[in-house]
Amino acid sequence: MKACSLCEEQAKKSRNSKPHENLIPVDDRRIFGGKKPQRFEEQDYQCTTCKTKFTHSTNANDIPWTMWRG
Ligand SMILES: [Zn+2]
Repeated sequence: MKACSLCEEQAKKSRNSKPHENLIPVDDRRIFGGKKPQRFEEQDYQCTTCKTKFTHSTNANDIPWTMWRG
């Protein structure tokens, strides 16, 4: 299924931005590393409209919002 417009926009958003209104968390938050600044977190989300999945990462070396295209 094609990603909805909100998801297309989400893929361009910054690390600190919130998930859009139809994007809900799935599974548990994953925490990597110990102390800051090495520590980062990942959280998976899925859109209730178009079913597109995202992974949000706080790792500065990662893409902030990775869209998983099916
Ligand atoms: Zn969507």
